[in-house]
Formats: sequence, structure tokens, C-alpha cells
Amino acid sequence: MRALWFLVALCIAFPAHAVDLSGQFVQGGLVVGQAAPGSMVTLDGLGVDVAANGAFVFGFGRDAKVKAQLVVTGPDGGREVRDLSVAAQTYKIQHIDGLPERKVTPAPEDLKRIQDDNAKIAAVRALSTPKTHFLSGFVWPVTGPISGVFGSQRILNGEPKNPHNGVDVAAPTGTPIVAPAAGVVVLVHDDMFYTGKTVMIDHGLGLTSVYAHMNSIAVADGQAVAQGAPLGTVGASGRVTGAHLHWGLTWKGTHLDPKLAAGSMPAENAQN
Ligand SMILES: [Zn+2]
Repeated sequence: MRALWFLVALCIAFPAHAVDLSGQFVQGGLVVGQAAPGSMVTLDGLGVDVAANGAFVFGFGRDAKVKAQLVVTGPDGGREVRDLSVAAQTYKIQHIDGLPERKVTPAPEDLKRIQDDNAKIAAVRALSTPKTHFLSGFVWPVTGPISGVFGSQRILNGEPKNPHNGVDVAAPTGTPIVAPAAGVVVLVHDDMFYTGKTVMIDHGLGLTSVYAHMNSIAVADGQAVAQGAPLGTVGASGRVTGAHLHWGLTWKGTHLDPKLAAGSMPAENAQN
């Protein structure tokens, strides 16, 4: 009986957290949260969209600060402040040689096309639809050796370029690609300058993903996809040296590491 009263007293003194967070508290990591419906959420002062059921999602960029503060204001006005520690990653330099020179230093006549491609991609990344498809969780869209990791500084044909903003999985041309999480297809493009045949998926609340260098596309713009639904096949279109899938995951313009969302590559296909 005394133990029971002790437990009751403990629960009153330390109420269960009204906010649940699960994910990877590391640079490039994705975190899914649950608060009371009607809550408002900010991350370091910036608004985080919250679904009607109280679910939300956010992530930490490649160079995110190692401390972040999440503030959840409940529908009753009560505030819960979470000081988050974000583990730092170390990034490698990756040299890729043998790319067609025009794909590294575009010709003047390519620039308009690149701008058009970038505008279409940026429009998708600016979406924040009030959906929670991301609650399906993430699996690998293709399994195989990882040939390019997130965040590595890239030197293409000897020229320093932007860090790699996704993960590359090597697989033969024609290997099926599946949707790693539920969502809605919001971009289908047959021939982007850098990414070739390209598909993008909206997973809700500002979280989107991209599939690049495809050989064939099996989905249409506006199509809803369940986790595991076929998207098309691996190819070597766009700026590549060989067949692979480039998979990117972006939250509100911040690139995240898809590998952290999907977890370890299934062992039979992992490199080494
Ligand atoms: Zn890539």
C-alpha cells in the first residue's frame, strides 16, 4: 500500500511528458513527435507544422548546431521546453572523376534548363501539406552497396562542389525502386539536367524525398503511394558515372540523411 501511494505521489510530482519524440538526434537525423492536438511547436524559434492529430516532424541539417530547443505550447497554453543535444557527424571528402565535363561545368545554354529544374525542385521542397504519411516510417527504396554517403564534400573532376545531399545506392539498371514511406507523388520529370529521370514524394508537413537517375518511372504526378509501392527502376540518367539510385530526404529545405531514417542496410546487401 505504501508503495502504491509512493507511486501516486511520484506521478503527481513528475507528470508523464505530454510530448513524445522519436528519431535520430544527430546531424542529418529525422525526428517524429507527438503532442496534444492543437499544440504549437517551434524549433529554435522557427515554426514546426503540426497535424490536426498533434503529430509533427523535424530534422537536423548536415551542419546543425549541437544544441537545439524545442518548445511545445499546448492548447491550454502550457509550455513544455525540451533542450535537445544533437550529435555531430564527421564528413569525408569524396572524389568523383570521369564525369562528363558538361555535367560538372554546364555550358551557357544549359543554365536555363538547370534553373527550370531547380525551380521545380524548390517548389516541392516548399510544400507543407497537412498530412502525416511519414508516420509509416522509412525503409530502403533499393538495397545494395552504398556508393555515396550523406554530407560528404564532393570534388567532381577535380572541382570542389556542394556536399552530397542524399545517399547513393549502387544497383544494376532495371532494379525496382519502391516508396520508402507513404506519400503523394508531386514531381515526375523525364530528363532533369543533373538528376535525369526524377520522382519526388510529399510525405507531409514539409518532409519530401527525391529519387534520381532513374531508368524508368512507374508513377504519375498526384498519385498516392503506400510504403513499398513501385516507383520505377534504377538507371544512369543525368550526372552519373554508373547506375545507382540517389535518394534524398528534405525537411523544409534542410537536407537530411535518408540512411538515418531507414536504418542499417539489410546485411546481405551491405558493402563489406
Ligand atoms: Zn547522390
